[in-house]
Amino acid sequence: MSSKLPTTAPGQLFDFLGNRYVYAVISQRAGGLLIGIEMNPDKKCNFDCVYCCVNRAPDRDRRSFSLRTMSAELKAMLLRHRQHRFKELPNFSNLPEDLLKLKGISLSGEGEPTLSPRFAEVVGEIIHIRNSGQWPDFKIVLITNGTGLHLPAVQEGLRLLSLTDEIWVKLDAGTYEKMRDINKSPVPLSTIIDNIVALGQWRPVIIQSLFCSLNEAEPEDEEIDLYIQQLLEIRDQGADISEVQIYSIVRPPSHAACGRLSLSQLSLIARRVRSETGLNVEVY
Ligand code: SF4
Repeated sequence: MSSKLPTTAPGQLFDFLGNRYVYAVISQRAGGLLIGIEMNPDKKCNFDCVYCCVNRAPDRDRRSFSLRTMSAELKAMLLRHRQHRFKELPNFSNLPEDLLKLKGISLSGEGEPTLSPRFAEVVGEIIHIRNSGQWPDFKIVLITNGTGLHLPAVQEGLRLLSLTDEIWVKLDAGTYEKMRDINKSPVPLSTIIDNIVALGQWRPVIIQSLFCSLNEAEPEDEEIDLYIQQLLEIRDQGADISEVQIYSIVRPPSHAACGRLSLSQLSLIARRVRSETGLNVEVY
């Protein structure tokens, strides 16, 4: 189980440092600093999770995406890191050195990255920067709700990733009904399961599962049973699930009905998942 990490600032999701597309964040699940790429400046997402904390009011400055600007911002951020200059920033100045170690470049942001029409280009550019030999090696981490993993442009980008890069796919429920309550999406659960299976059959996949209360009702045992059943079916179809991340909300959600589960509640869920699936499970 991981110890709790501070966020960059109370209630602050990302620190863009004046950038348009590249931000820095201390990620509890990554265990330190992630440099993130805002793949969807228009904040497009096909989920409307009850726990989402993204303000979807359009931001006039960041509606379009410029690969050239993103690339320049990423190099500047990598340079700042190489020169140990994160400590100069108010949101990072009090953090221990360990948390300022670079854990990866994340493809995420305030929308769903696999819905980005520039997905393959962005991945290609980051890999070009990684292969340039100018920077210490870094891992790429795709954080996704899984709905666009089958899209041809996304597949093209995924094929560029190495096996040490990571793909974290959201799975918050074992049934479509529950998924509709939590993720509020018209996308069928079967699409996400099929995408996880297809991905996991050719490379490792990390499942990220957020559990929360809804209108003060905690998840029932039967719901956890069905969630575990989905994990077993994914695994039994040959998907390589390298880790299951179990966590709850950490920042104020957009829907007041959604509440945080305690660490002991999360640990109970994790223990069940671990013992009934044999998978590697971490609580955050
Ligand atoms: S998938 Fe992510 S960005 Fe989309 S609504 Fe859910 S939490 Fe928000």
